[in-house]
Amino acid sequence: MRAKDLNIAELVQFSPGYVGLQGRRLLIHDLFALGQFRRDLIETVGEDMGRRILTRKGFFWGQADAAGMQRLYQWDSLGEWIAASAALSQISGRAQMSTNITLLDEATGRIEVEMTTDNSAEVEEYRNELGKASKPVCWVTVGYASGYVSYCMGKSVYFVEAHCQAADAPGCVFVGKDVDSWGSVIEKDKPYFLAADIQKKVLELSRRIRNQQRTLVQQRNQLKTSLQPGVLSGIEVKSKSFRAVLDLAERVAAFDTTVLITGETGTGKEVLARHIHACSARKDGPFLAVNCSALPENLLESELFGHKAGSFTGAKTDQIGLFKAAEKGTIFLDEIGDISPQLQAKLLRVIQSREIKPVGDTRTQQIDVRVISATNRDLDQLAEEGAFRKDLLYRLRVVLVAVPPLRDRRDDILPLTRHFLDQFKRRHKIANLRLSPAVADVLTKYDWPGNVRELENALEHAAVLCADGLVTPDILPRDVAGSIPEKGVADRHGTLESLERQHIRRVLDQTGGNRAEAARSLGISESTLYRRLRDLPGSRT
Ligand SMILES: [Zn+2]
Repeated sequence: MRAKDLNIAELVQFSPGYVGLQGRRLLIHDLFALGQFRRDLIETVGEDMGRRILTRKGFFWGQADAAGMQRLYQWDSLGEWIAASAALSQISGRAQMSTNITLLDEATGRIEVEMTTDNSAEVEEYRNELGKASKPVCWVTVGYASGYVSYCMGKSVYFVEAHCQAADAPGCVFVGKDVDSWGSVIEKDKPYFLAADIQKKVLELSRRIRNQQRTLVQQRNQLKTSLQPGVLSGIEVKSKSFRAVLDLAERVAAFDTTVLITGETGTGKEVLARHIHACSARKDGPFLAVNCSALPENLLESELFGHKAGSFTGAKTDQIGLFKAAEKGTIFLDEIGDISPQLQAKLLRVIQSREIKPVGDTRTQQIDVRVISATNRDLDQLAEEGAFRKDLLYRLRVVLVAVPPLRDRRDDILPLTRHFLDQFKRRHKIANLRLSPAVADVLTKYDWPGNVRELENALEHAAVLCADGLVTPDILPRDVAGSIPEKGVADRHGTLESLERQHIRRVLDQTGGNRAEAARSLGISESTLYRRLRDLPGSRT
Protein backbone atom coordinates (compact mmCIF):
# COMPACT_ATOMS: atom_id res chain seq x y z
CA MET A 1 0.00 0.00 0.00
CA ARG A 2 1.15 3.50 -0.81
CA ALA A 3 -0.04 6.66 0.92
CA LYS A 4 -1.24 8.22 -2.32
CA ASP A 5 -3.51 5.21 -2.98
CA LEU A 6 -5.54 5.75 0.20
CA ASN A 7 -9.16 6.37 -0.63
CA ILE A 8 -11.00 8.61 1.79
CA ALA A 9 -14.42 7.26 0.87
CA GLU A 10 -13.31 3.71 1.61
CA LEU A 11 -12.01 4.55 5.04
CA VAL A 12 -14.90 6.37 6.66
CA GLN A 13 -18.24 4.78 7.51
CA PHE A 14 -21.35 6.67 8.48
CA SER A 15 -24.34 5.15 10.20
CA PRO A 16 -26.92 6.76 12.49
CA GLY A 17 -25.15 7.97 15.62
CA TYR A 18 -21.81 6.69 14.44
CA VAL A 19 -18.89 7.85 12.32
CA GLY A 20 -16.14 5.30 12.02
CA LEU A 21 -12.65 5.11 10.65
CA GLN A 22 -12.23 1.38 10.03
CA GLY A 23 -13.60 0.25 13.36
CA ARG A 24 -12.43 3.25 15.38
CA ARG A 25 -15.09 5.71 16.35
CA LEU A 26 -14.62 9.32 15.28
CA LEU A 27 -16.34 12.44 16.49
CA ILE A 28 -17.16 15.41 14.34
CA HIS A 29 -16.37 18.33 16.61
CA ASP A 30 -17.31 21.97 16.29
CA LEU A 31 -14.32 24.24 15.73
CA PHE A 32 -15.70 27.19 17.69
CA ALA A 33 -16.22 24.98 20.75
CA LEU A 34 -12.60 23.81 20.45
CA GLY A 35 -11.43 27.42 20.32
CA GLN A 36 -13.42 28.20 23.46
CA PHE A 37 -11.90 25.17 25.12
CA ARG A 38 -8.39 26.35 24.25
CA ARG A 39 -9.07 29.79 25.67
CA ASP A 40 -10.53 28.31 28.91
CA LEU A 41 -7.64 25.94 29.18
CA ILE A 42 -5.02 28.67 28.82
CA GLU A 43 -6.87 30.92 31.26
CA THR A 44 -7.24 28.11 33.80
CA VAL A 45 -3.86 26.36 33.74
CA GLY A 46 -1.67 28.87 31.92
CA GLU A 47 -0.30 28.85 28.37
CA ASP A 48 2.54 26.48 29.13
CA MET A 49 0.41 23.78 30.71
CA GLY A 50 -2.35 24.32 28.13
CA ARG A 51 0.21 23.74 25.42
CA ARG A 52 1.33 20.52 27.12
CA ILE A 53 -2.21 19.20 27.39
CA LEU A 54 -3.01 19.95 23.74
CA THR A 55 0.32 18.56 22.53
CA ARG A 56 -0.27 15.35 24.46
CA LYS A 57 -3.79 15.09 23.10
CA GLY A 58 -2.38 15.36 19.57
CA PHE A 59 0.34 12.85 20.41
CA PHE A 60 -2.09 10.12 21.45
CA TRP A 61 -4.27 10.87 18.46
CA GLY A 62 -1.26 10.44 16.17
CA GLN A 63 -0.31 7.15 17.83
CA ALA A 64 -3.80 5.78 17.46
CA ASP A 65 -3.86 6.74 13.76
CA ALA A 66 -0.48 5.16 13.14
CA ALA A 67 -1.58 1.96 14.90
CA GLY A 68 -4.79 1.96 12.87
CA MET A 69 -2.91 2.34 9.59
CA GLN A 70 -0.58 -0.48 10.59
CA ARG A 71 -3.51 -2.74 11.35
CA LEU A 72 -5.30 -1.98 8.08
CA TYR A 73 -2.63 -2.13 5.43
CA GLN A 74 0.59 -3.74 4.34
CA TRP A 75 2.70 -0.67 3.61
CA ASP A 76 5.20 -0.73 0.78
CA SER A 77 7.70 0.94 3.08
CA LEU A 78 8.06 2.68 6.41
CA GLY A 79 8.08 5.97 4.52
CA GLU A 80 4.68 5.21 2.95
CA TRP A 81 3.22 4.40 6.36
CA ILE A 82 4.53 7.74 7.68
CA ALA A 83 3.29 9.64 4.63
CA ALA A 84 -0.21 8.22 5.22
CA SER A 85 -0.51 10.66 8.13
CA ALA A 86 -1.00 13.43 5.57
CA ALA A 87 -3.92 11.57 3.99
CA LEU A 88 -5.47 11.02 7.42
CA SER A 89 -5.07 14.71 8.15
CA GLN A 90 -7.21 15.43 5.13
CA ILE A 91 -9.79 12.75 5.95
CA SER A 92 -10.31 14.12 9.43
CA GLY A 93 -10.44 17.72 8.23
CA ARG A 94 -7.40 18.86 10.19
CA ALA A 95 -5.54 20.41 7.29
CA GLN A 96 -4.24 20.05 3.79
CA MET A 97 -0.96 18.39 4.65
CA SER A 98 2.13 17.19 2.84
CA THR A 99 5.06 15.16 4.08
CA ASN A 100 8.64 15.33 2.89
CA ILE A 101 11.05 12.77 4.34
CA THR A 102 14.64 13.87 3.77
CA LEU A 103 16.36 11.18 5.83
CA LEU A 104 15.16 7.77 6.90
CA ASP A 105 17.40 5.03 8.20
CA GLU A 106 15.46 2.14 9.64
CA ALA A 107 18.58 0.47 11.05
CA THR A 108 19.55 3.39 13.27
CA GLY A 109 16.05 4.85 13.65
CA ARG A 110 17.24 8.15 12.22
CA ILE A 111 14.63 10.30 10.57
CA GLU A 112 14.33 13.85 9.34
CA VAL A 113 11.01 14.91 7.97
CA GLU A 114 9.21 18.12 7.16
CA MET A 115 5.44 18.41 7.25
CA THR A 116 3.61 21.44 5.94
CA THR A 117 -0.03 22.30 6.40
CA ASP A 118 -2.29 24.73 4.68
CA ASN A 119 -5.87 25.69 5.53
CA SER A 120 -5.36 24.17 8.98
CA ALA A 121 -8.34 23.83 11.30
CA GLU A 122 -6.12 24.48 14.28
CA VAL A 123 -4.98 27.82 12.85
CA GLU A 124 -8.58 28.79 12.16
CA GLU A 125 -9.67 27.65 15.61
CA TYR A 126 -6.95 29.75 17.27
CA ARG A 127 -7.63 32.84 15.21
CA ASN A 128 -11.42 32.62 15.65
CA GLU A 129 -11.03 32.81 19.39
CA LEU A 130 -7.68 34.45 20.10
CA GLY A 131 -6.86 36.44 16.97
CA LYS A 132 -3.46 36.72 15.33
CA ALA A 133 -0.71 34.75 17.08
CA SER A 134 2.76 36.07 17.80
CA LYS A 135 4.36 32.61 17.68
CA PRO A 136 3.51 29.12 16.38
CA VAL A 137 0.36 27.72 18.02
CA CYS A 138 -0.43 24.42 16.23
CA TRP A 139 0.24 22.41 19.36
CA VAL A 140 -2.17 19.59 18.59
CA THR A 141 -0.63 19.17 15.14
CA VAL A 142 2.90 19.13 16.62
CA GLY A 143 1.76 16.45 19.06
CA TYR A 144 -0.06 14.52 16.35
CA ALA A 145 2.94 14.39 14.00
CA SER A 146 5.22 13.41 16.87
CA GLY A 147 2.88 10.68 18.10
CA TYR A 148 2.30 9.29 14.62
CA VAL A 149 5.96 9.15 13.56
CA SER A 150 7.18 7.99 17.00
CA TYR A 151 4.81 5.04 16.75
CA CYS A 152 6.03 4.19 13.23
CA MET A 153 9.71 4.49 14.18
CA GLY A 154 9.36 2.77 17.56
CA LYS A 155 11.46 5.65 18.92
CA SER A 156 10.77 9.18 20.17
CA VAL A 157 10.46 11.58 17.26
CA TYR A 158 9.79 15.24 18.02
CA PHE A 159 8.31 17.88 15.79
CA VAL A 160 8.80 21.59 16.20
CA GLU A 161 6.66 24.14 14.38
CA ALA A 162 9.05 26.46 12.58
CA HIS A 163 6.51 28.78 10.93
CA CYS A 164 2.80 29.16 11.65
CA GLN A 165 -0.03 30.51 9.53
CA ALA A 166 -1.70 31.79 12.71
CA ALA A 167 1.28 34.14 12.94
CA ASP A 168 0.83 35.16 9.30
CA ALA A 169 3.33 32.75 7.71
CA PRO A 170 2.17 31.46 4.28
CA GLY A 171 1.76 27.96 5.78
CA CYS A 172 2.63 26.00 8.87
CA VAL A 173 5.94 24.13 8.67
CA PHE A 174 6.77 21.34 11.12
CA VAL A 175 10.27 19.95 11.36
CA GLY A 176 10.56 16.47 12.81
CA LYS A 177 13.64 14.46 13.86
CA ASP A 178 14.27 11.48 16.06
CA VAL A 179 15.53 12.28 19.54
CA ASP A 180 19.17 11.41 18.69
CA SER A 181 19.24 13.59 15.59
CA TRP A 182 17.88 16.53 17.55
CA GLY A 183 20.50 16.25 20.23
CA SER A 184 20.32 18.82 22.99
CA VAL A 185 18.41 21.31 20.82
CA ILE A 186 15.14 19.57 21.62
CA GLU A 187 15.54 19.70 25.40
CA LYS A 188 13.52 22.91 25.78
CA ASP A 189 10.60 21.41 23.82
CA LYS A 190 10.63 18.02 25.52
CA PRO A 191 8.56 19.04 28.54
CA TYR A 192 5.60 19.66 26.23
CA PHE A 193 5.61 15.99 25.37
CA LEU A 194 6.31 14.91 28.95
CA ALA A 195 8.66 12.40 27.38
CA ALA A 196 9.21 10.11 30.36
CA ASP A 197 5.52 9.79 30.89
CA ILE A 198 4.80 9.39 27.21
CA GLN A 199 7.20 6.47 26.82
CA LYS A 200 5.19 4.58 29.40
CA LYS A 201 1.98 5.67 27.76
CA VAL A 202 3.24 4.48 24.36
CA LEU A 203 3.72 1.01 25.74
CA GLU A 204 0.45 1.08 27.61
CA LEU A 205 -1.44 2.33 24.59
CA SER A 206 0.14 -0.27 22.32
CA ARG A 207 -0.88 -2.93 24.79
CA ARG A 208 -4.42 -1.58 24.96
CA ILE A 209 -4.66 -1.44 21.17
CA ARG A 210 -3.49 -5.06 20.97
CA ASN A 211 -6.06 -6.09 23.60
CA GLN A 212 -8.75 -4.22 21.76
CA GLN A 213 -7.81 -5.98 18.54
CA ARG A 214 -8.02 -9.32 20.34
CA THR A 215 -11.44 -8.44 21.69
CA LEU A 216 -12.57 -7.42 18.21
CA VAL A 217 -11.40 -10.73 16.78
CA GLN A 218 -13.15 -12.60 19.60
CA GLN A 219 -16.35 -10.67 19.02
CA ARG A 220 -16.19 -11.41 15.33
CA ASN A 221 -15.67 -15.10 16.04
CA GLN A 222 -18.57 -15.17 18.47
CA LEU A 223 -20.78 -13.53 15.89
CA LYS A 224 -19.75 -16.18 13.38
CA THR A 225 -20.48 -19.00 15.82
CA SER A 226 -23.92 -17.64 16.60
CA LEU A 227 -24.54 -17.55 12.87
CA GLN A 228 -23.35 -21.15 12.51
CA PRO A 229 -21.25 -20.85 9.40
CA GLY A 230 -22.27 -23.04 6.51
CA VAL A 231 -25.72 -23.74 7.90
CA LEU A 232 -28.84 -22.68 6.03
CA SER A 233 -32.19 -23.10 7.80
CA GLY A 234 -30.75 -25.80 10.01
CA ILE A 235 -29.13 -27.79 7.22
CA GLU A 236 -25.38 -28.02 6.96
CA VAL A 237 -24.04 -26.98 3.59
CA LYS A 238 -21.35 -29.41 2.41
CA SER A 239 -20.77 -28.34 -1.17
CA LYS A 240 -18.11 -25.77 -1.94
CA SER A 241 -20.23 -24.03 -4.55
CA PHE A 242 -23.16 -23.43 -2.25
CA ARG A 243 -20.95 -22.53 0.70
CA ALA A 244 -19.52 -19.72 -1.41
CA VAL A 245 -23.06 -18.54 -2.17
CA LEU A 246 -23.97 -18.63 1.50
CA ASP A 247 -20.82 -16.72 2.36
CA LEU A 248 -21.66 -14.00 -0.13
CA ALA A 249 -25.24 -13.82 1.15
CA GLU A 250 -24.04 -13.40 4.73
CA ARG A 251 -21.54 -10.73 3.79
CA VAL A 252 -24.05 -8.73 1.77
CA ALA A 253 -26.64 -9.02 4.57
CA ALA A 254 -24.88 -6.31 6.55
CA PHE A 255 -25.37 -3.76 3.79
CA ASP A 256 -28.72 -2.34 2.86
CA THR A 257 -28.28 -2.80 -0.88
CA THR A 258 -30.63 -4.54 -3.26
CA VAL A 259 -29.81 -8.17 -4.00
CA LEU A 260 -30.83 -10.16 -7.04
CA ILE A 261 -30.91 -13.92 -6.55
CA THR A 262 -30.83 -16.01 -9.70
CA GLY A 263 -31.17 -19.73 -10.09
CA GLU A 264 -33.30 -22.48 -11.57
CA THR A 265 -36.75 -23.21 -10.20
CA GLY A 266 -36.69 -25.00 -6.88
CA THR A 267 -33.13 -24.05 -5.90
CA GLY A 268 -34.30 -22.33 -2.72
CA LYS A 269 -34.01 -18.67 -3.68
CA GLU A 270 -36.58 -17.62 -1.09
CA VAL A 271 -34.80 -19.60 1.64
CA LEU A 272 -31.66 -17.66 0.78
CA ALA A 273 -33.53 -14.34 0.79
CA ARG A 274 -34.89 -15.16 4.25
CA HIS A 275 -31.36 -15.98 5.36
CA ILE A 276 -30.07 -12.60 4.16
CA HIS A 277 -32.91 -10.93 6.06
CA ALA A 278 -32.17 -12.96 9.20
CA CYS A 279 -28.48 -12.00 9.06
CA SER A 280 -29.22 -8.29 8.54
CA ALA A 281 -29.91 -5.43 10.92
CA ARG A 282 -33.53 -5.67 9.74
CA LYS A 283 -33.95 -9.16 11.21
CA ASP A 284 -36.52 -7.99 13.76
CA GLY A 285 -38.59 -6.35 11.03
CA PRO A 286 -40.98 -8.19 8.70
CA PHE A 287 -39.96 -10.36 5.75
CA LEU A 288 -42.67 -10.34 3.12
CA ALA A 289 -42.52 -12.41 -0.05
CA VAL A 290 -44.57 -11.92 -3.17
CA ASN A 291 -44.61 -13.99 -6.34
CA CYS A 292 -44.82 -11.43 -9.12
CA SER A 293 -45.98 -13.93 -11.72
CA ALA A 294 -48.91 -15.15 -9.63
CA LEU A 295 -51.06 -12.01 -9.90
CA PRO A 296 -52.43 -10.01 -12.83
CA GLU A 297 -50.75 -6.64 -13.29
CA ASN A 298 -53.35 -4.36 -11.67
CA LEU A 299 -53.75 -6.61 -8.64
CA LEU A 300 -50.00 -6.91 -8.25
CA GLU A 301 -49.64 -3.13 -8.25
CA SER A 302 -52.22 -2.73 -5.50
CA GLU A 303 -50.70 -5.68 -3.62
CA LEU A 304 -47.28 -4.01 -3.71
CA PHE A 305 -48.16 -0.37 -3.20
CA GLY A 306 -51.66 -0.50 -1.66
CA HIS A 307 -54.76 1.32 -2.85
CA LYS A 308 -57.37 3.92 -1.87
CA ALA A 309 -60.99 2.90 -1.36
CA GLY A 310 -62.90 3.21 -4.63
CA SER A 311 -59.79 3.33 -6.80
CA PHE A 312 -61.08 0.29 -8.72
CA THR A 313 -64.01 -2.11 -8.62
CA GLY A 314 -63.78 -4.16 -5.48
CA ALA A 315 -61.56 -1.68 -3.63
CA LYS A 316 -64.00 -1.08 -0.81
CA THR A 317 -61.53 0.12 1.79
CA ASP A 318 -58.04 1.61 1.86
CA GLN A 319 -55.50 -1.15 1.69
CA ILE A 320 -51.84 -0.87 2.63
CA GLY A 321 -49.40 -2.51 0.25
CA LEU A 322 -46.60 -4.96 0.94
CA PHE A 323 -43.95 -2.25 0.56
CA LYS A 324 -45.53 -0.35 3.46
CA ALA A 325 -46.26 -3.51 5.44
CA ALA A 326 -42.61 -4.51 5.16
CA GLU A 327 -41.51 -1.21 6.77
CA LYS A 328 -38.11 -1.60 8.50
CA GLY A 329 -37.91 -5.10 7.05
CA THR A 330 -37.34 -6.82 3.74
CA ILE A 331 -39.60 -7.37 0.73
CA PHE A 332 -38.84 -10.35 -1.50
CA LEU A 333 -40.01 -10.03 -5.10
CA ASP A 334 -39.94 -13.49 -6.65
CA GLU A 335 -40.21 -14.02 -10.43
CA ILE A 336 -39.28 -10.38 -10.97
CA GLY A 337 -38.64 -11.08 -14.65
CA ASP A 338 -42.37 -11.49 -15.17
CA ILE A 339 -43.56 -7.98 -14.28
CA SER A 340 -45.02 -5.74 -16.97
CA PRO A 341 -43.14 -2.75 -18.42
CA GLN A 342 -45.54 -0.37 -16.66
CA LEU A 343 -44.94 -1.94 -13.30
CA GLN A 344 -41.20 -2.00 -14.01
CA ALA A 345 -41.30 1.79 -14.40
CA LYS A 346 -43.23 2.18 -11.13
CA LEU A 347 -40.91 -0.15 -9.26
CA LEU A 348 -37.88 1.75 -10.54
CA ARG A 349 -39.36 4.99 -9.20
CA VAL A 350 -40.05 3.39 -5.83
CA ILE A 351 -36.52 2.06 -5.48
CA GLN A 352 -34.99 5.37 -6.57
CA SER A 353 -37.15 7.65 -4.45
CA ARG A 354 -37.87 5.34 -1.51
CA GLU A 355 -41.46 6.48 -1.83
CA ILE A 356 -44.64 4.69 -2.84
CA LYS A 357 -47.92 6.00 -4.20
CA PRO A 358 -50.92 3.75 -3.47
CA VAL A 359 -53.24 3.10 -6.43
CA GLY A 360 -55.80 5.93 -6.63
CA ASP A 361 -53.89 8.11 -4.19
CA THR A 362 -52.24 11.40 -5.05
CA ARG A 363 -49.93 11.46 -2.07
CA THR A 364 -46.71 9.56 -1.68
CA GLN A 365 -45.48 7.76 1.43
CA GLN A 366 -41.90 7.31 2.55
CA ILE A 367 -40.77 3.72 2.92
CA ASP A 368 -37.80 2.08 4.61
CA VAL A 369 -37.58 -1.37 3.03
CA ARG A 370 -34.82 -3.53 1.69
CA VAL A 371 -35.57 -5.05 -1.70
CA ILE A 372 -34.41 -8.56 -2.54
CA SER A 373 -35.62 -9.98 -5.84
CA ALA A 374 -35.26 -13.30 -7.59
CA THR A 375 -35.71 -14.80 -11.00
CA ASN A 376 -35.07 -17.99 -12.90
CA ARG A 377 -35.01 -16.06 -16.16
CA ASP A 378 -32.07 -14.45 -17.93
CA LEU A 379 -32.70 -10.78 -17.18
CA ASP A 380 -29.74 -9.65 -19.29
CA GLN A 381 -31.28 -11.41 -22.25
CA LEU A 382 -34.70 -9.90 -21.46
CA ALA A 383 -33.07 -6.48 -21.18
CA GLU A 384 -31.37 -6.95 -24.55
CA GLU A 385 -34.72 -7.84 -26.05
CA GLY A 386 -36.27 -4.75 -24.47
CA ALA A 387 -38.62 -6.77 -22.27
CA PHE A 388 -36.92 -5.71 -19.05
CA ARG A 389 -35.68 -2.20 -18.23
CA LYS A 390 -31.92 -2.04 -17.97
CA ASP A 391 -32.02 0.80 -15.42
CA LEU A 392 -34.27 -1.29 -13.19
CA LEU A 393 -32.03 -4.32 -13.63
CA TYR A 394 -29.00 -2.34 -12.47
CA ARG A 395 -30.93 -1.02 -9.49
CA LEU A 396 -32.09 -4.49 -8.47
CA ARG A 397 -28.74 -6.15 -9.07
CA VAL A 398 -26.38 -4.13 -6.88
CA VAL A 399 -25.31 -7.53 -5.63
CA LEU A 400 -25.95 -10.69 -7.63
CA VAL A 401 -26.21 -14.02 -5.85
CA ALA A 402 -26.38 -16.97 -8.26
CA VAL A 403 -27.68 -20.14 -6.64
CA PRO A 404 -26.25 -23.27 -8.28
CA PRO A 405 -28.61 -26.08 -9.33
CA LEU A 406 -28.69 -29.13 -7.06
CA ARG A 407 -26.84 -31.27 -9.64
CA ASP A 408 -23.88 -28.89 -9.27
CA ARG A 409 -23.79 -29.34 -5.51
CA ARG A 410 -24.33 -33.05 -5.07
CA ASP A 411 -22.59 -33.01 -1.68
CA ASP A 412 -25.69 -31.29 -0.31
CA ILE A 413 -28.17 -33.95 -1.50
CA LEU A 414 -27.84 -36.31 1.48
CA PRO A 415 -27.88 -33.62 4.21
CA LEU A 416 -31.01 -32.20 2.54
CA THR A 417 -32.51 -35.68 2.28
CA ARG A 418 -31.98 -36.34 5.99
CA HIS A 419 -33.45 -32.98 6.85
CA PHE A 420 -36.59 -33.67 4.79
CA LEU A 421 -36.96 -37.19 6.16
CA ASP A 422 -36.87 -35.77 9.70
CA GLN A 423 -39.68 -33.43 8.69
CA PHE A 424 -41.78 -36.19 7.17
CA LYS A 425 -41.18 -38.43 10.17
CA ARG A 426 -42.95 -35.86 12.29
CA ARG A 427 -45.52 -34.78 9.74
CA HIS A 428 -46.62 -38.28 8.73
CA LYS A 429 -45.82 -39.97 12.07
CA ILE A 430 -43.47 -42.58 10.59
CA ALA A 431 -41.10 -43.17 13.49
CA ASN A 432 -38.60 -45.41 11.70
CA LEU A 433 -38.49 -43.57 8.36
CA ARG A 434 -35.04 -44.26 6.89
CA LEU A 435 -33.10 -44.71 3.66
CA SER A 436 -31.90 -47.99 2.20
CA PRO A 437 -28.23 -47.77 1.17
CA ALA A 438 -29.21 -48.25 -2.48
CA VAL A 439 -31.53 -45.25 -2.43
CA ALA A 440 -28.81 -42.88 -1.25
CA ASP A 441 -26.85 -43.82 -4.34
CA VAL A 442 -29.81 -43.15 -6.60
CA LEU A 443 -30.53 -39.80 -4.97
CA THR A 444 -26.98 -38.54 -5.32
CA LYS A 445 -26.69 -39.66 -8.95
CA TYR A 446 -29.96 -38.24 -10.22
CA ASP A 447 -29.80 -34.84 -11.93
CA TRP A 448 -32.73 -33.18 -10.11
CA PRO A 449 -33.99 -30.83 -12.83
CA GLY A 450 -36.55 -29.56 -10.30
CA ASN A 451 -33.76 -29.06 -7.74
CA VAL A 452 -34.37 -29.01 -3.98
CA ARG A 453 -38.12 -28.80 -4.41
CA GLU A 454 -38.12 -31.94 -6.57
CA LEU A 455 -36.00 -33.74 -3.97
CA GLU A 456 -38.42 -32.75 -1.23
CA ASN A 457 -41.43 -33.90 -3.25
CA ALA A 458 -39.78 -37.17 -4.24
CA LEU A 459 -38.97 -37.96 -0.63
CA GLU A 460 -42.45 -37.12 0.57
CA HIS A 461 -43.85 -39.37 -2.17
CA ALA A 462 -41.57 -42.18 -1.00
CA ALA A 463 -42.26 -41.55 2.70
CA VAL A 464 -45.98 -41.89 2.15
CA LEU A 465 -45.66 -45.00 -0.02
CA CYS A 466 -43.05 -46.95 1.89
CA ALA A 467 -44.44 -49.91 3.78
CA ASP A 468 -42.27 -50.21 6.88
CA GLY A 469 -40.47 -46.87 6.96
CA LEU A 470 -37.68 -48.05 4.67
CA VAL A 471 -37.28 -45.88 1.57
CA THR A 472 -36.03 -48.07 -1.27
CA PRO A 473 -35.29 -47.01 -4.86
CA ASP A 474 -38.40 -48.67 -6.31
CA ILE A 475 -40.80 -46.42 -4.40
CA LEU A 476 -39.22 -43.18 -5.57
CA PRO A 477 -41.14 -41.26 -8.24
CA ARG A 478 -40.57 -42.83 -11.60
CA ASP A 479 -38.40 -39.99 -13.00
CA VAL A 480 -35.98 -40.53 -10.17
CA ALA A 481 -36.23 -44.30 -9.94
CA GLY A 482 -36.05 -44.58 -13.71
CA SER A 483 -32.62 -43.07 -13.63
CA ILE A 484 -31.26 -46.13 -11.80
CA PRO A 485 -28.80 -47.73 -14.19
CA GLU A 486 -29.52 -51.39 -14.81
CA LYS A 487 -26.80 -53.95 -14.54
CA GLY A 488 -24.91 -53.94 -17.82
CA VAL A 489 -27.24 -51.42 -19.39
CA ALA A 490 -26.06 -47.83 -19.63
CA ASP A 491 -29.57 -46.46 -19.50
CA ARG A 492 -29.41 -43.25 -17.47
CA HIS A 493 -32.92 -42.14 -18.36
CA GLY A 494 -34.92 -45.19 -17.47
CA THR A 495 -38.56 -45.48 -18.25
CA LEU A 496 -41.50 -46.83 -16.32
CA GLU A 497 -41.08 -49.99 -18.37
CA SER A 498 -37.50 -50.50 -17.35
CA LEU A 499 -38.47 -49.95 -13.73
CA GLU A 500 -41.27 -52.46 -14.03
CA ARG A 501 -38.92 -54.94 -15.63
CA GLN A 502 -36.39 -54.54 -12.84
CA HIS A 503 -39.04 -54.94 -10.22
CA ILE A 504 -40.48 -58.08 -11.76
CA ARG A 505 -36.99 -59.55 -12.05
CA ARG A 506 -36.25 -58.76 -8.45
CA VAL A 507 -39.45 -60.42 -7.25
CA LEU A 508 -38.76 -63.48 -9.41
CA ASP A 509 -35.29 -63.67 -7.89
CA GLN A 510 -36.78 -63.55 -4.43
CA THR A 511 -39.25 -66.32 -5.18
CA GLY A 512 -36.54 -68.44 -6.72
CA GLY A 513 -38.26 -68.20 -10.10
CA ASN A 514 -41.65 -69.30 -8.80
CA ARG A 515 -44.00 -67.38 -11.12
CA ALA A 516 -47.20 -68.11 -9.21
CA GLU A 517 -45.70 -66.79 -6.01
CA ALA A 518 -44.16 -63.81 -7.82
CA ALA A 519 -47.56 -62.92 -9.36
CA ARG A 520 -49.18 -63.04 -5.93
CA SER A 521 -46.45 -60.86 -4.49
CA LEU A 522 -46.83 -58.39 -7.35
CA GLY A 523 -50.61 -58.29 -6.91
CA ILE A 524 -51.31 -59.42 -10.48
CA SER A 525 -52.62 -62.62 -11.99
CA GLU A 526 -50.21 -65.23 -13.24
CA SER A 527 -51.42 -64.69 -16.83
CA THR A 528 -50.76 -60.95 -16.54
CA LEU A 529 -47.28 -61.74 -15.31
CA TYR A 530 -46.71 -64.01 -18.34
CA ARG A 531 -47.93 -61.28 -20.66
CA ARG A 532 -45.68 -58.65 -19.04
CA LEU A 533 -42.69 -60.90 -19.31
CA ARG A 534 -43.41 -61.54 -22.98
CA ASP A 535 -44.16 -57.85 -23.82
CA LEU A 536 -41.22 -56.34 -22.07
CA PRO A 537 -38.48 -55.65 -24.57
CA GLY A 538 -35.16 -57.21 -23.75
CA SER A 539 -36.83 -59.64 -21.44
CA ARG A 540 -35.53 -63.18 -21.67
CA THR A 541 -37.26 -65.46 -19.23
ZN1 LIG B 1 0.52 26.61 12.73
